[in-house]
Amino acid sequence: MKIAVLPGDGIGTEIVAEAVRVLDALELDFEMETALVGGAAYDAHGHPLPEATLKLAKEADAVLFGAVGDWKYDTLERQFRPEQAILGLRKNLGLFANFRPAICYEQLVDASSLKPELIAGLDILIIRELTGDIYFGQPRGRRTAVDGHFPGAEEAFDTMRYSRPEVERIARVAFEAARKRSKRSKRVTSVDKANVLETFQFWKDIVTEVGKEYPDVALDHMYVDNAAMQLVKEPKKFDVVVTGNMFGDILSDEAAMLTGSIGMLPSASLNASSQGLYEPSHGSAPDIAGKGVANPLATILSAAMMLRFSLQQPEAADRIESAVKSVLASGLRTGDIWSEGTKRVGTREMGDAVVAALSSSVIKKTSITG
Ligand code: NAD
Repeated sequence: MKIAVLPGDGIGTEIVAEAVRVLDALELDFEMETALVGGAAYDAHGHPLPEATLKLAKEADAVLFGAVGDWKYDTLERQFRPEQAILGLRKNLGLFANFRPAICYEQLVDASSLKPELIAGLDILIIRELTGDIYFGQPRGRRTAVDGHFPGAEEAFDTMRYSRPEVERIARVAFEAARKRSKRSKRVTSVDKANVLETFQFWKDIVTEVGKEYPDVALDHMYVDNAAMQLVKEPKKFDVVVTGNMFGDILSDEAAMLTGSIGMLPSASLNASSQGLYEPSHGSAPDIAGKGVANPLATILSAAMMLRFSLQQPEAADRIESAVKSVLASGLRTGDIWSEGTKRVGTREMGDAVVAALSSSVIKKTSITG
């Protein structure tokens, strides 16, 4: 098994270094190879996704990605901006399914802006279709309007579209994911805007059809505006949420913030053969880059998702997740999740603590079995 390690820019290099140390500590049989991506790759090779980086990512079983971007690249032509590397990887690897779990750790209940009783025990999974919808639909552009409210005026337009196979495959991913979850109520909520958009009536019809293949998983449908409300009103009502690219972009960020800190949230983007790109949900945080204060846990938890979904090592994934829980239980916190009565640590110390918790779990296991 091979992992392409792409740290990227800003805090990307700091947090990925900790995730790599955690993976090393597992002493499993896989190879890791690092390459430049984003602004760092642009500076060195004149392109945010150089050929060699893309080749490595394609050949690997999984990509562990940090974050890309810095304000200093904002004036570059769009094709050279660091963020284009992510779009390029998604497109070239066919990563159509984005998984974003929003889990509220018991120890971090107070970090959320919602009341503790609303989010204690929260464990939901947002699945966002990643390669279709209005973000990729053609035609798009600017032109002179020939009709509408202001004929003759300058206008801009995009195209929302989904094909049947695109909806079928993301629906199947959602139903399969719901089946694998340990929750008692296996349920998929499909989020759409079928009352207004033709594309999403089509989406709803197809998800309903696919749902019939999964009689053990309950299916309900919700309009996106209501879903946005319900996510803050009663988030624990949800189990798996599946939706299109644009609605998923917005709802997954909203769900992320239910748990308090973006520094805790992993994500996975998978293709049809379970090859995946694993990254924290946050960006490169240029405001704290180089200070050694970034929270590495989202990246470490992304590595756990990688072990589970692409490398078929679910036990190793469980070990990482348990180690993170025990580190939080011990009261260590990076600045983003710090609160009165807990101990503030930096990126490296947080990584050290997870590595130590992993080894102590091995010692405990050995002493029990021995
Ligand atoms: P951001 O997620 O980088 O930062 C938002 C805020 O959260 C900042 O205050 C930051 O300090 C904090 N933060 C983020 N991650 C943290 C962590 N692990 N620990 C502690 N605090 C953390 O979003 P932004 O500031 O809007 O964007 C900065 C750059 O990142 C931009 O260039 C943007 O394009 C890029 N970006 C990249 C990705 C990606 O690589 N997938 C995603 C989003 C934004």
